[in-house]
Amino acid sequence: MKKLGIFGGTFNPIHRGHLIVAKEVREGFDLDQICFVPAAIPPHKQTKKVAEASHRLEMIRLAIAGYDGFSVSDVELKRSGPSYTIDTLDHFKAIYSKKTQIYFIIGMDAFLDIETWKSFHKLFSVAPFIVMSRPGVLNSEPVKKVRVVTKLLVAKISSGYYFDSARNTFFHPEKKPVFLFDVTPVDISATMVRERIGQGKSISSLVPEKVKEFIESKGLYL
Ligand code: ATP
Repeated sequence: MKKLGIFGGTFNPIHRGHLIVAKEVREGFDLDQICFVPAAIPPHKQTKKVAEASHRLEMIRLAIAGYDGFSVSDVELKRSGPSYTIDTLDHFKAIYSKKTQIYFIIGMDAFLDIETWKSFHKLFSVAPFIVMSRPGVLNSEPVKKVRVVTKLLVAKISSGYYFDSARNTFFHPEKKPVFLFDVTPVDISATMVRERIGQGKSISSLVPEKVKEFIESKGLYL
């Protein structure tokens, strides 16, 4: 069985945080590949200053060059209208054989927002979630994190979800598991990158050098 991780996001822009946590997930779950999938028109982020999709795609290409097992897909950019994860997972399920297990990789902040996503219910029947920890999001007390996620799953998805503490995972008799995965805390966000550019500060420690050069050459986020 091959294992493929789908890592969706706005990537506005991709930053070192994305790369560090994706590498840890790949190793931790023994994934053959992680595919970064930038959203065309992020349904949740339309009010923010979002760089052109082709630029965000190119920055991902530059950032992942040299990493083993990372790829990028423009599937959401080719689709018209807003990008929905359910359509993307259906797409990957259709093009890969049943011999490939597809995982959906998401940060805890985004996961807590899941009930606002299109067909969020169905997502839990399509692919297991790998939910990565993120600084500032329910990290002070592990017990509280489990309580909050249990409440969300039971109230919004199905009362059949239960937590297996030995495996740090929520299981369900019919639906897909939800894995909680602790990654190294990397306090970087794309918002931080954009804000620092706006303030005329250096972003060298936040994004790969090639991404920084691209941002500068296109005058993004000024
Ligand atoms: P913004 O600041 O614009 O909201 P972001 O930094 O959260 O952006 P996204 O492109 O929205 O970046 O993130 C894509 C996915 O990666 C999301 O599921 C998010 O939770 C996760 N993610 C981003 N940065 C980190 C990080 N430092 N640690 C763990 N997960 C992260």
